[in-house]
Order: sequence, then structure tokens, then C-alpha cells
Amino acid sequence: GKRGEPDREEKFRLLKMKVGDLHGVPIIIRETTTIQEAVVALFLENVGNLIVTDADGHLAGIVSRKDLLKVTLGNPSASSMPVSLIMTRRANVTTVQPEDTVLDAARKIITRQIDSLPVVVPSEDGNPDHWKVVGRITKTNIIKMLLDMVAEE
Ligand code: ADP
Repeated sequence: GKRGEPDREEKFRLLKMKVGDLHGVPIIIRETTTIQEAVVALFLENVGNLIVTDADGHLAGIVSRKDLLKVTLGNPSASSMPVSLIMTRRANVTTVQPEDTVLDAARKIITRQIDSLPVVVPSEDGNPDHWKVVGRITKTNIIKMLLDMVAEE
């Protein structure tokens, strides 16, 4: 298509893109990780939030920089507490699966006003509450994909 106006074929390609084609490596911590260790991990991994799993590796929650900032500002001694006390818990975590479209992921990110989504698959144990974390899709991943598609033209 002409610069700035995607033609039908390009739009079609965009609509077909799957989360599984795009997502990155998840940065995962255990629910017993302390708030201090979580802050260190945010800096070392250069991410805005961390996915929290239980001892079996199933999704337990997600913790963001604001969650960490809020608790440590209110109470500096909180840094030795486990992240499980402040994380957004599994039942409230918005996720996507590899077969979902990137468009679905983008819509969830915008409607929930969040930066990233854990990419999950059902656990092999058949428990519907158990999700295995296989990746992470972020606003940045999605914007980068758009830029790559434009550059390929
Ligand atoms: P920041 O804290 O930098 O604004 P986010 O926008 O990602 O980062 O997080 C805002 C709030 O939403 C935090 O309380 C965080 O725990 C929560 N959150 C982050 N990602 C998700 C998600 N995928 N599903 C549900 N809640 C989330």
C-alpha cells in the first residue's frame, strides 16, 4: 500500500497475527519473593511488572512498579514482606493464550489500562484454576510489531 494507508492485505495480516507469534519471555518470580527482591528484579530485568507463580509454576498474580512503590512508601519495613501480600491476584489478572490474536491482546491492554499480559496455557493437571505461564505480551511488543510491518513494506 501507499505510505500511511495499509491496503487490505496488510490489514488482513495484522488481524491474523497471533499472540504466540509475538510474545516475549516472561519475567517470573515466586510468591514467596520479598518486596525488596522484587524491586531489584524490576531494575535488573528492566521491566515494569513481574509475573508471580506458586511453587508448582502456576500463575498466582502480577506485581507492578506502582504496587511496589505504594507499599514501600507507606511502610519502609514492608520490603521484607512476600509479594503475595500485595500482588494483583490470579482471579483478577487479565491473561491471553498463544492462539488469541494480537488485536485481542491490544484491546485488553487498552480497556484494562495495563502495560502487559501474561501469556498462559492450561495446566497439564487439568485443574481449571492452574495456568502455566509461557510468555508475556506488552504494549512495546505490539508497537514494535507495527513498526516492523511498516518497515517490511
Ligand atoms: P504500573 O504500576 O507501572 O502502572 P501497570 O499499568 O502494568 O503498571 O499496572 C497497574 C495495576 O494493574 C497494578 O496494580 C498491577 O498489579 C495491575 N496489573 C498489571 N497487569 C495486569 C494484568 N495483566 N491483569 C490485571 N491487573 C494487572
